Amino acid sequence: MELDQMDVNEWKYHGEGNKSLVVSHLQRSQVFRFLKYPASDTENLCKTARNAFIHVQKIVDFSKNVMKPLLGENYVHHGVVVQLPLEFVQSVCLKVQQERPESRCDKMMDTFSGYALCLPNLTKLPAFHFSEKQSSLCIEIKPKCGFLPFSRHVSRETKYRVCRFCMHQHLKLANGKWHRMSRYCPLDLFSGSKQRMSFALKNLLQEPQNNLKIFKNGTLIYGCKDEKDSLQDLNTLIHHLKPYFYPANGLISGSHGTRTVLNELIHVITVALLNATDSRRKYIPEGRTYCEASTLHREILRKGISGLPKDCVLSKILQAQTLDNLDIEGLYPLYRRVQQHLEEFPEERTRLQIDGPYDKSFLEKLENVQPEDDGTVEYAVQKVHQYRVAMTAKDCSIMIAFSPCAEDELPDSHLVIPSSKSRFTYSVSILDLDPKPYENIPHQYKLDGKIVNYFLKKTLGKQ
Ligand code: ATP
Ligand code: ZN
Ligand code: MG
Ligand code: MG
Repeated sequence: MELDQMDVNEWKYHGEGNKSLVVSHLQRSQVFRFLKYPASDTENLCKTARNAFIHVQKIVDFSKNVMKPLLGENYVHHGVVVQLPLEFVQSVCLKVQQERPESRCDKMMDTFSGYALCLPNLTKLPAFHFSEKQSSLCIEIKPKCGFLPFSRHVSRETKYRVCRFCMHQHLKLANGKWHRMSRYCPLDLFSGSKQRMSFALKNLLQEPQNNLKIFKNGTLIYGCKDEKDSLQDLNTLIHHLKPYFYPANGLISGSHGTRTVLNELIHVITVALLNATDSRRKYIPEGRTYCEASTLHREILRKGISGLPKDCVLSKILQAQTLDNLDIEGLYPLYRRVQQHLEEFPEERTRLQIDGPYDKSFLEKLENVQPEDDGTVEYAVQKVHQYRVAMTAKDCSIMIAFSPCAEDELPDSHLVIPSSKSRFTYSVSILDLDPKPYENIPHQYKLDGKIVNYFLKKTLGKQ
């Protein structure tokens, strides 16, 4: 790629989150991920080109040196920082503006620094097992937190029984963020039980919110851009899916056909999520493994504690999430300890690696935290680091890309999902692995209280 000869016509809007906007190349499997700023911040932007570079480089370092060793080499693509001509970046910004969902337009793309993160387009299969003529399908899942807190610092009993996602739904509905309740519960997805996982995936398909997206050949065909602009027609989705699962004919029809196609899709996703080199070794987190808000039948919930194969993608994410083992309620006093120390000794910020560097020693400290609090600032900082890594793992997305494949061209037996009618090659990756800011911890503490209080207020009358 010649960075000084970029052509805006070869790039299109791909998607965005709260922190970044992504454009993809029309042919190559490549995306640029640009930072976003609050629209009111424009005055400062010109001065921050250097800061933008440092920021994007930190994202790369954190993904590469911290999240990759924790989550697995195969799943994480850390990418590289690129410096693009400002003229190109500005034309991209103009081009994508009309595609952006309204609710995201309170922030604007960084067109001042020229820096972006260059990543492979994970909605497509890597070239080595992807022949050009085949079309690919990709499911993106943002699974959120998959365990109930087990820390003794938790002050409200409800938090041991109802998961954060399910509680948060009530507040999100009240705030108008979404108009319909999602029945997805992360504990079902992370259970390892096929029945509970299917239930979770069905609920994601029914009401994707920002937890599920489906791409066909790199283009979004299902999911929410925002609450006003959603692509959520299941019939249209099924129309897109049929050729993948029933390539030969359109024999199946009506509600039976609909269910069959969705079940096949769910089967493929489940196999990909549970795929492991050794499926005998299981991971089950501490604490209760089902959530009282899940609408699945109680008996199934209780029985469905099968655990996850230790090195499958869900297990890797869950293990990183459970680094938050004190809960925000146990962590917040430690954050205050660090904060007080820094107020007294601001120069300590560097030694304690509060803002990085995210290197090997950062990871080592994180992995060797002493079991008991000895009252030191070192202990507190390490717990804060662990918490921040867990936050990243609670916010990441899983990408499952797959493509039909003939029996005689199977690239690797591990990559085949033997669904009843079709064979697929697939790849699984994890994205959105930015470090979460240290400064966000007080906000997280307040938000936690707000979510629990609102949930209790809403549901108390009904119990
Ligand atoms: P969040 O609000 O979830 O924190 P974010 O602003 O950090 O989001 P990302 O999640 O990294 O941004 O990117 C936004 C969207 O762009 C993703 O949900 C995904 O659909 C798409 N995307 C990001 N990186 C890639 C990639 N490498 N390949 C394909 N699509 C990508
Ligand atoms: Zn739940
Ligand atoms: Mg994201
Ligand atoms: Mg993010």
